[in-house]
Amino acid sequence: MILILRGDATEEQIAHVVKRVQEMGFQAHLSRGTHRTIVGIIGDEDQTREAPLRAIPGVADVIPVLPPYKLASRDAHPRDSIVDVSGIKIGGGYLAMIAGPCSVEEPERMDRIAEAVAASGANIFRGGAFKPRTSPYAFQGLGEEGLRILREAGHKHGMPVVTEVIDPRHVEMVAEYSDMLQIGARNMQNFVLLTEAGKTHRPVLLKRGMSATVADLLMSAEYVLSQGNSQVVLCERGVKGFDNATRNLYDVAAVALVKRLSHLPIIVDPSHATGRPDLIPACALAGLAVGADGVHIEVHDCPEVAKSDGPQALLPVQYDALMVKMKAMAKLFDKQVSTHVEVSIG
Ligand code: PEP
Ligand code: MN
Repeated sequence: MILILRGDATEEQIAHVVKRVQEMGFQAHLSRGTHRTIVGIIGDEDQTREAPLRAIPGVADVIPVLPPYKLASRDAHPRDSIVDVSGIKIGGGYLAMIAGPCSVEEPERMDRIAEAVAASGANIFRGGAFKPRTSPYAFQGLGEEGLRILREAGHKHGMPVVTEVIDPRHVEMVAEYSDMLQIGARNMQNFVLLTEAGKTHRPVLLKRGMSATVADLLMSAEYVLSQGNSQVVLCERGVKGFDNATRNLYDVAAVALVKRLSHLPIIVDPSHATGRPDLIPACALAGLAVGADGVHIEVHDCPEVAKSDGPQALLPVQYDALMVKMKAMAKLFDKQVSTHVEVSIG
């Protein structure tokens, strides 16, 4: 931590700053410039961050040297992490292709959609059994029955499944049915939920909150990691913007930035980011171009009857056409869509 003192700090104030820092149990290294004096603090970065340093008279600014997300940071782990979702690898050159409807619906429909997306090359099947809806009167999901339907459809077609958990009391149950736990945008800072998910052995798909900064997202990942669960995949799904031309503001730059700041895989969700099927293909490819480790897309065989998010769903045929392009893009960047059986082409 570095303290920058005010230009008009008196000798008494400078001496007091050094004394307070030492009383807090840290070492203080004074460096006097022509216009400013700075104080380098040596001590545990977490403790110095907690100390009320800015409140000491004469202190103008406090600058941390290390990021607060120490486990999620690339400093802690320079190589890309690879997350394993029941045999499907994500990160370090492996792409997650997550597809499925917004909500889990009736078994026959889930079976049809799973069959179609698997044939196109999706490697993880999705669907929400517990839906965090803006309105309490909107469809809330099929609950545990939905978890069963999702797992059956996914596994029948050779795909692990991911589904959202919205209640810390449901974490254990959802972890029994699902290969990966999704923590949605609305719950990105539900610290109790993050902590509970961190105690499981299931990988976590952590979506960026709609008003969350990149640092907020990485700090939320830190909650999961700090519980001993190292299997976290981040997801950019758009943030609130001023323009309602698209559902959210798709922040692709954040994806490129996260790749620099963190070793964790990050995927993109152009479905929720744009809310418009006509924009999803271009935005999916843009995500891969900036380094995303996968693409999450909502697919429905009859969007006009979908229980939620129908207007943004791609038809299976549209997903199939996009997948052809995404696979070409993967090849261009020397990445591969992970499958259960890694076939080595010799
Ligand atoms: C979803 O994946 O269906 C969902 C609700 O996502 P988000 O949390 O990003 O809105
Ligand atoms: Mn949705």
